[in-house]
Amino acid sequence: MKKLSLDKILQSQGFGSRKGCRDLIEDGEVSIDGVVITKWKTEFDPQGLVFQIFDETWEYREKVYLVLNKPSGYECSRKPTHHPAVLTLFPQNMEWRDVQPVGRLDHDTTGLLLLSDDGAFIHAQSSPKRHQPKNYIATTAEPVTDKLVADLLAGVQLIDEPAPIAALVANKVAENQIEIVLEQGKYHQVKRMLAAAGNHCSALTRVQIGGLKLADLGLAEGEWRYLSAAELQLLQ
Ligand code: URA
Repeated sequence: MKKLSLDKILQSQGFGSRKGCRDLIEDGEVSIDGVVITKWKTEFDPQGLVFQIFDETWEYREKVYLVLNKPSGYECSRKPTHHPAVLTLFPQNMEWRDVQPVGRLDHDTTGLLLLSDDGAFIHAQSSPKRHQPKNYIATTAEPVTDKLVADLLAGVQLIDEPAPIAALVANKVAENQIEIVLEQGKYHQVKRMLAAAGNHCSALTRVQIGGLKLADLGLAEGEWRYLSAAELQLLQ
C-alpha cells in the first residue's frame, strides 16, 4: 500500500482532525515499534501498521467490521432520544470513523448487532433483496401454543403491510419462549408479529444473523470485538 504521513493515517482511524492528530504526534503520544514518533510528516505503509496512542495499541484497519452483544437500554440511532447510543459502548474513534449499526435493534432488544464504517457492507447486509435470515428468541407474556407457531409460519397481517408476513422458522423453545427466524427487517417486526398473532413479546434477543451465532462469539452483554475474516464469511 502507498506510504502515508502519520497524521493522515491517524485521522483515517478516527483519532481526530488533521490538526488534532498532528498535536497528538508532536506531544509524543504516538509510538510505533516502541519508538515515539514526533514528526507528523513521517511516512509509513499503513497496511498492517501497529501503533500505540496513550499506551493503547491499535492496528490500522481500512474498514472496521464489529460485533456487539447489545445490552438493553441502548438506542441504535446516532441521535438517540431516550437512552444512550450503542456507540457509547465503543472507543470514541469508532464514532469519528463514522461507524454505524447495520440495521437496528429496539432499545430493549439484546443480542447480536453488527456495526461498520463500510457503506457497501452496511447497504448489502441491510438490503431487503438479500433475505439474510435473522434468528430471535422472544419471551412471551402468554404461553407459546401450537396455534401461535402455526399462525407465524402461515403469515400474519401487520398494519401498513400489503400482505401477510410469515416467519421462516417458528419453534417453541420453552413454555413462554419461541425462536423466530425472519428474512425481513421491518420496524418492530417480531413484536408486531407476536401481537398480531394474539400474544405479547416481553423480551427479545437476536441470537443469529446468517451463519453467525451469538453463542459462538464469547461476548458478554455490552462487549464488542472485531469480526474475523472467517466470521465475515458466515454473513455472505
Ligand atoms: N423485531 C423487533 O420487534 N424488535 C427488534 O429489535 C428486532 C426485531
